[in-house]
Amino acid sequence: MKHQRIHNFNAGPSALPLPVLEEMNESLLNFKGSGMSIMEISHRSHWFDDVIHDAVARIRRLMNLGSEYHVLFLQGGASLQFAMVPMNFLEGSASADYVDTGTWSSKAIAEALIQKKNIRVVASSKDRNYAYIPKNLGFDSAAAYVHLTSNNTIKGTQWASFPDTGAVPIVTDMSSDILSRPMDMKNIGMIYAGAQKNIGPAGATVVIVRDDMLKKIPEGLPTMLSYKTFADNNSMYNTPPCFTIYAVQLTMKWLEDTVGGIENMGRINAEKASLIYGTLDRSGFYKGTADADSRSQMNVTFRLASEDLEKKFVAQALENGFGGLKGHKSVGGCRASIYNATTVDSVKALCEFMDHFEKTNG
Ligand SMILES: *Cc1c(COP(=O)(O)O)cnc(C)c1O
Repeated sequence: MKHQRIHNFNAGPSALPLPVLEEMNESLLNFKGSGMSIMEISHRSHWFDDVIHDAVARIRRLMNLGSEYHVLFLQGGASLQFAMVPMNFLEGSASADYVDTGTWSSKAIAEALIQKKNIRVVASSKDRNYAYIPKNLGFDSAAAYVHLTSNNTIKGTQWASFPDTGAVPIVTDMSSDILSRPMDMKNIGMIYAGAQKNIGPAGATVVIVRDDMLKKIPEGLPTMLSYKTFADNNSMYNTPPCFTIYAVQLTMKWLEDTVGGIENMGRINAEKASLIYGTLDRSGFYKGTADADSRSQMNVTFRLASEDLEKKFVAQALENGFGGLKGHKSVGGCRASIYNATTVDSVKALCEFMDHFEKTNG
């Protein structure tokens, strides 16, 4: 039973593609004939150089990024980005617009305010417990950027497409939906994403930043808190998180060569989401928490009639080989995270289990 794997619906860190884990396992003791693990190799070696270059090249190809974008690997998680974004892009009296769509947006706003930066919260969906994505937004045309959380991991909502911000660049936290489907890069000044949801294990944050944004960064920031340091040094000013970057490289290889790219991934993710939402919508037993037009394709959040029944559901699911279905501790309820690596088969099996649980408990 040692290698028995469950259907993994964890919110993050979360499922990785099986072929990625297998390849990691195989090269763990002897990476490319070096006689060393990838974890035992210098980040200045040609072996690691190949890894990081290939990871970046694959992200560029998958997202169809123009030469104006830099792809960087940082540490500190998406949470450090909440602080670094205003630190790098809001100098003096410059201001930025933020949309508050839940826990992670609120934290991003808080980190700008700690630094006494000039920001405006242009809209919030707090009035209905963040069950929707606000519409008809008016942005300040003089803002340095508009900050959006692309997918709200905890509340189960997602921007179906980004709003029109005129000439103002969008800075977006895509921790839980980066590379999950094709996206329009028009107006995207910067993307950041902790790796541990959709593209690898914990330990690295991917930052994709447009060249003109880098030019606005003030002098005098601490070295490790300026994006310029990472752009000028191929993300290797200091020791990068080598193992995580290696895992990201393998995940990108899987996405490109096995899945066949981001269009295919988007179709697969849409299919998985519609299977689970279909199950929710067919019954009054499970109640989705997000408005239908704001639903996330990555995190499906739902409630049952009582907290006791939710506990029973999560426990029985686990007994039947479905893990990670408990909602975030701050909101309760249930959540199925169906990131790139979660298979259609796992989702179908979960839907069957949900139908069965409803029949025996409804
Ligand atoms: C998980 C998550 C974060 C926090 O990421 P860390 O890497 O743990 O700092 C931020 N934003 C979103 C959207 C997330 O899902």
